Amino acid sequence: MEQGVNEKMNGLAHPTLFRPVRGRAPADPLVDPDEVDFGGLFPRLDHMIGRRIAFRTAAIHLDRPVVSITFDDFPRTADTPGARILEDHGARGTFYPASGLFGLTNSRWTVAGAETVADLHRRGHEIGLHGHAHRPANLLDPAAFAADLAANRAALRRIVPGLVRENYAYPYGQCGVRQKKRLSASVRSSRSVQPGINAGRTDLDFLKSVEISARGLTENNLDRWLDRAEAASGWLVLFTHDVSEAPSLYGTTPRVLARIVSRALERGFAVLPVAAALDRAGIA
Ligand SMILES: [Zn+2]
Repeated sequence: MEQGVNEKMNGLAHPTLFRPVRGRAPADPLVDPDEVDFGGLFPRLDHMIGRRIAFRTAAIHLDRPVVSITFDDFPRTADTPGARILEDHGARGTFYPASGLFGLTNSRWTVAGAETVADLHRRGHEIGLHGHAHRPANLLDPAAFAADLAANRAALRRIVPGLVRENYAYPYGQCGVRQKKRLSASVRSSRSVQPGINAGRTDLDFLKSVEISARGLTENNLDRWLDRAEAASGWLVLFTHDVSEAPSLYGTTPRVLARIVSRALERGFAVLPVAAALDRAGIA
């Protein structure tokens, strides 16, 4: 089933950034942003300018602070044990699948497939958008970007027919001015990888987000991030990839993930998917 769906989806936009492992593991751009060619000066400037131009903003008003836990791409371990850990605490997360990667294996993980996406949705998790071919937005011209986004949306809506007004996460956190403008008219929000707390007047097309990983949010700095969110009555959006005893640079362990959820709840935070957090903040 997953295989069949995957083949159909790959027909439209081949995930050229993804090189399945054969023999020795190659450097893998899917999971290692250091290996991605982000293009020349123009795409870099496009991202730098794009992230500063807000096409729409909203004021975030929260009675109590909120944490959202999100998973990009996403590896099978984001479901089990990842999603299961959230469920054990009565919480749910947001998953941003790049539909062109379903079922593919790289040097660090195997990406979940359509069955897992459907199952996560049945279990109450949110399914968002992350591009079909997992290309940095600023490397696709506006028409190609729109086509890739439409392919991602169509693929996911075939799996989960009830999806509407999805939230989006930028592959590699890269935006561009025109791509961001397009998103402002077609998704409910877009999540970046720029660390920070979302509070007060907020750019809905570049939500700040902190990576749960050894170089990002850990057990050691968890309370400092929660302090900042609490002080601002804000919304702390977290993202990660694999959840494993030996995680990649871009993932975390079951223990750390469980600690984040339990500590946030203990401190009186609501732990909500992105859509539910926007609802809570009074943002349509
Ligand atoms: Zn990604």
